[in-house]
Amino acid sequence: MSTDSYHMDIESFKKYGYSVIDEIADYYKHLEEYPVSPNVNFGDILEKLPLSPPEHGEPFEKIIEDVKNIVIPGLTHWQSPNFFAFFPSNTSFPSILGELYSAAFGVQGMVWATSPACTELEMRVMDWVAELLNLPEKFMFKGSGGGVIEDSASTAALCAIIAARESKSDYSTNKLGARIPLIAYLTKHTHSSVIKGLKVAGIGEENIRYIDTDRFYAMDVVNLEEHIEIDISKGLIPFFVCATIGTTSTNAVDPVALIGVVAEKYNLWLHVDAAMVGTAAICDKYKYLLDGLEKANSFCFNPHKWMFTNFDCDCFFVDDRRKLISALTIMPEYLKNIKDNKGTEVIDYRDWQVSLGRRFRSLKLWFVIRYYGKEGLSFHINKHIELARLFEELVANSQDFEIFAKRIVNLVCFRHKRGNKFNEKLLNEINKTGKAYLSHSKIDDIFFLRFCVGQTYTEKEHVINAWHIIQNCANKINLI
Ligand SMILES: *Cc1c(COP(=O)(O)O)cnc(C)c1O
Repeated sequence: MSTDSYHMDIESFKKYGYSVIDEIADYYKHLEEYPVSPNVNFGDILEKLPLSPPEHGEPFEKIIEDVKNIVIPGLTHWQSPNFFAFFPSNTSFPSILGELYSAAFGVQGMVWATSPACTELEMRVMDWVAELLNLPEKFMFKGSGGGVIEDSASTAALCAIIAARESKSDYSTNKLGARIPLIAYLTKHTHSSVIKGLKVAGIGEENIRYIDTDRFYAMDVVNLEEHIEIDISKGLIPFFVCATIGTTSTNAVDPVALIGVVAEKYNLWLHVDAAMVGTAAICDKYKYLLDGLEKANSFCFNPHKWMFTNFDCDCFFVDDRRKLISALTIMPEYLKNIKDNKGTEVIDYRDWQVSLGRRFRSLKLWFVIRYYGKEGLSFHINKHIELARLFEELVANSQDFEIFAKRIVNLVCFRHKRGNKFNEKLLNEINKTGKAYLSHSKIDDIFFLRFCVGQTYTEKEHVINAWHIIQNCANKINLI
């Protein structure tokens, strides 16, 4: 590299690279000192940013300074051990370093030939993940299927829906546009991204059936079959059912095995969404959570939620890769089956996703799995679940609070006994302290708080401390 260019030279890259790592390490050291959720209004951060881009390049030190002074104060600190809201979106140092390599290589892995290692590492890591979760062999490359890393569970659902739509319509929808009324089956607790996927795939809201749920918010299979029968009698065509392992509101688990029997009987595509909870199956003790996947056509979960791998990383598995590829390929017929030098057919991941280009996402997951091993991953996931169990116990033993829904693994749904208004105020008070961050949901008009344990560094002291904050805030509102 010449010195009369605008580029950062290698020596400067080393210098600033080390200092960025130092800054990041420092951020983690002081993470607990920041309010978990920032006290800012819309526009506060915009105001600190120049309206126009710089004419002349700026010193790198100044950019780092602005990260400190403008960006960090405007962050919600998802990596804080006091973050218990929504779901975790955790990461880890091995993941960060894997991501750094990915940025450095900057390869496009759209087809095998555009970066063979990008495709083949992903294939092997996906098979590893299938083994870690004990998935049926059909979801692996040695079976009829295989796995791919999508950006999100939303995209995984969309790809599943499109593969289901195409295989049901004999690939005619791709050619002719939608001609037949295809019907999809969900519950009210299915993630909104699946509904969005159905809209994007042109299925239409009118063609979505919401199946009744039992008292644990899980799909009622009898009602599923009733709906299917009614639709068939009307000349409509059932094509897709989504089962969730760990719904977002309460972590309810749909009866996947039973849904699978119905799906097989009526030839529906069964997609299983285990976005957060799927990770628990790495622990032998929680393998049962994924029972019933034998009859599923696709399955996804997010290492970017609870498996110490930074966003974006959704692992999406199909039982029959031909169906997915046939639905999403953009290869004109005459170019099909492009092979490598030896004439072997290759995997072109472009045909497994919506976009053409793709990042080298498997690096960070490979780093995480190799660094922690199954043992380390199980250890930390078990610990999170034990901490959630501890929190549940504290709530159950208190006079003022009650458990709202059965805990499955790392999420505790609970509420103060004084009703919706009180709980709304309580949540606001807790989050205002900046020392713990929780979120809420509402079912049948009952407002409840969600306490989700899954941040990489959450320990017992953080959970106990959060419980004290919750109690103090409740007492404070009682006094007003
Ligand atoms: C979080 C979540 C999703 C959405 O995940 P993205 O990766 O953000 O699309 C889907 N389903 C369930 C059950 C979830 O908890």
